Amino acid sequence: MNDQDTATGGNFIRQIIDEDIAAGKNDGRVVTRFPPEPNGYLHIGHAKSICLNFGIAVDYHGSCNLRFDDTNPHKENIEYIEAIKADVRWLGFDWDGLFFASDYFEQLYEFAVGLINEGKAYVCDLTAEQIREYRGTLTEPGRESPYRNRSVEENLDLFQRMRAGEFKDGERVLRAKIDMASPNINMRDPALYRIRHGVIHHQTGAEWCIYPMYDYTHPISDALEGITHSVCTLEFADHRPLYDWTLDNIPAPCHPQQIEFSRLNLEYTVMSKRKLTELVSEGHVEGWDDPRMPTIAGMRRRGYTPASIRDFCGRIGVSKSENTVEMGVLENCIREDLNANAPRRMAVLHPLKVVVKDYSPNRVEHLEVTNHPQNESMGTRVLPFTNELYIDRADFMEDPPRGFKRLVPGGEVRLRNAYVIRCDEVIRDAHGEIIELHCSHDAATLGANPEGRKVKGVIHWVSARFGVTAEIRLYDRLFSHPAPDAAGKEGNDYKEYLNPDSLRTLTGCIVEPELEHADPGDRLQFEREGYFCIDSRHSSKQALIFNRTVTLRDSWAKIEQAQKSR
Ligand code: ATP
Ligand code: MG
Repeated sequence: MNDQDTATGGNFIRQIIDEDIAAGKNDGRVVTRFPPEPNGYLHIGHAKSICLNFGIAVDYHGSCNLRFDDTNPHKENIEYIEAIKADVRWLGFDWDGLFFASDYFEQLYEFAVGLINEGKAYVCDLTAEQIREYRGTLTEPGRESPYRNRSVEENLDLFQRMRAGEFKDGERVLRAKIDMASPNINMRDPALYRIRHGVIHHQTGAEWCIYPMYDYTHPISDALEGITHSVCTLEFADHRPLYDWTLDNIPAPCHPQQIEFSRLNLEYTVMSKRKLTELVSEGHVEGWDDPRMPTIAGMRRRGYTPASIRDFCGRIGVSKSENTVEMGVLENCIREDLNANAPRRMAVLHPLKVVVKDYSPNRVEHLEVTNHPQNESMGTRVLPFTNELYIDRADFMEDPPRGFKRLVPGGEVRLRNAYVIRCDEVIRDAHGEIIELHCSHDAATLGANPEGRKVKGVIHWVSARFGVTAEIRLYDRLFSHPAPDAAGKEGNDYKEYLNPDSLRTLTGCIVEPELEHADPGDRLQFEREGYFCIDSRHSSKQALIFNRTVTLRDSWAKIEQAQKSR
């Protein structure tokens, strides 16, 4: 990938790196990492962090590690690890080193013993609740634990016995001895280790029954990997003093610089892994890769391209100010990509039969049509034209409003890439329902304008004989409220704002025969309908299923405009 492709642009983090390089810091090396917790699938917010960290490594000819922060084994599993690796690769990045925080468990333990030896850590017997009480508040200092002044020998003995499994969960913790009066609550003797029996860790199995805390593990993992710039989200700014304290008080091989940026928030969705897990486990969506999920796996199945996601991450930029990005920004990125790159096809979503009475039932014309109106290099395909066709029900109206340019009784319309037809007769069933249109065609209008009159409307169609039946899933936004999280804060559950129309399934759609050969991964424009892809999970050659990636135009913009002016 070259510099232009990484889509992170200039930003304050790159400025810091430029200055560091100019000052000769870290001998000019740039090493970053992306540190996911394997407790869920990656989402579009993670993509921002991935583009930033891997993008920096690419552009500065440095390196970027993928490191699993696996200190909470009861919430983690191998499925997540594999999914995260696949998603990072799919986004177009590759890691230099692949690590697990658990690779460092032994070293982390040794460093903790070192802290105890120097009187900088102690084993505390207070319960979790007592520790909370003793911690104080933002306005009141904390109180010192009665166990704070244990001797080094006693602490070493107890810590060793914690590791040996002599104590129950929650009975003891190892704490840093820093400052119970610190204005920063994170510095009030934070826990470094806790006891957790009975979990089989996906990497270390049953070897450990004590696990290091994130705030202790993270800086040390960074230092052991020689990370130069440890980029994280803003909520860790208050933890930075503890990050630095940890590295200042162990024999760390280096001292990475923690730099915080604001996380991505996106309208009409939620991004917390707790909530995404809930949506999956409670069955509100089909799984982590449901095409409505803001996960990378969901977006891939929806039809998003890696390039469109990188483009999005570039456009939103990197800063320290909290903001929420409009969903339209993301949708426009994929729309632009697919407008340029998706081959055009015809698909009839709500079929209405048309019989061209003056076209021989035995005749088949193989019309050669272009795959893309602006890009000849995308080639052509063959469309069979026959006397029986399907058009979309919405393209015919008996009592049209003014300005309706499509088919009406007695009126003409152009069939895209084919003839101009006229509707001569409307056929109904016993209930009065329109079941067929009888039409005639102007044989002189193939690739030519009709003589002496203008036909304005152009509609899409598919041959009834050669068309293929398909299911089409019209996906829309998962939530109908732009800020389901914030709405949830008003005492409602964010799930009350799930959009009941986020999925409409159409069966019996008719698509052009070429689409029988579509592969998962192909992305297509169905003319006049939107952008679609094969559903990679459920579609088969025998039963085609297409997912709508995005509509041709932003239909939400109007709705939002109306909501705002209300
Ligand atoms: P949770 O949702 O449970 O708070 P998390 O989002 O912090 O978890 P991690 O797996 O720890 O999940 O995230 C890995 C990295 O991705 C971290 O460096 C984190 O800062 C970054 N990250 C997570 N969410 C976002 C987001 N919305 N925008 C930008 N970066 C993010
Ligand atoms: Mg996290």
